[in-house]
Amino acid sequence: MNADAGLPADCYLSPSSGDGRPPLSEIFSAFDPLLLAGWRAIEVATQPAPSGGTLPIRAYLNREPVDAILIGGIHGREPAGALALARCVPRLVGRGGTLGLLLMPLLNPWGYLHHIRYGPSGQSVSDSDHLLGRQPGPACPEAAAITGFVMDGVRIRPGAAVLDLHEDPVYEAPEYQFEGSGSYIYVTGAGAMTHPASRRVRDCLEGSRLPLVRDGVTRFGERLTDGIIVDTADGSIDELLARRVGCSPVITVENLLHAPDSPPLAQRVEVYLDVLEAFFGAPGEEFPCARPSS
Ligand SMILES: [Zn+2]
Repeated sequence: MNADAGLPADCYLSPSSGDGRPPLSEIFSAFDPLLLAGWRAIEVATQPAPSGGTLPIRAYLNREPVDAILIGGIHGREPAGALALARCVPRLVGRGGTLGLLLMPLLNPWGYLHHIRYGPSGQSVSDSDHLLGRQPGPACPEAAAITGFVMDGVRIRPGAAVLDLHEDPVYEAPEYQFEGSGSYIYVTGAGAMTHPASRRVRDCLEGSRLPLVRDGVTRFGERLTDGIIVDTADGSIDELLARRVGCSPVITVENLLHAPDSPPLAQRVEVYLDVLEAFFGAPGEEFPCARPSS
């Protein structure tokens, strides 16, 4: 089964991003095994392709209600999450045997292709402020579609766990200074800090090649405490999932980038593969509230 017949020609080009990221077509096709395993692919939205046609924004779902949500590729200069999710597809097929999983691996393919943070309208593709009471309407068409999908298009169990894999390209904002290297996390949701999945992710990063950065201030003025920012109100889809859908823990992972390839992309992907394993835990310890398949 090949879902990618008819992708625009842009999808077969290697983006000139300086980090060696593969063409979009390779990422899209990496998820085909999910379809063979009985998962559904849902086209949540599209973005314009430079050469004409559209770039699909896809979600993958094995069953409802959803017990865990995996997100990548919201920002175009942060490819490690999408690539790690593409690499762990065989593991996700296995995890899907006992868990309802929702995968949204590359929410901003236009940004990935162009190596630009936001979407073509200059707004964050999953901005959720309109559903958090801070803006009268959605920031852009993708934000309307993506937030509408998680609110109304799929049944997510309250207490579902969320892992959103970002990176922090310090170099993209000249006025942004953040010394050092390594990772940090946002943890949001009721009881999220003491949830085993949060602890496992924190411990995983601590022992990784991108250990937690103990302190610092993000470009959004958030101060790290032992590498963690708790319950931020940043208008992201993570805040929406925690506050309006009842997900917990909602874990957002970041690692500091001082150039597109520093640290090297391959190393960041390896760390995120380990983070994914830690998020789920060993068989049987996955999530305290997860139920066996029926
Ligand atoms: Zn990001």
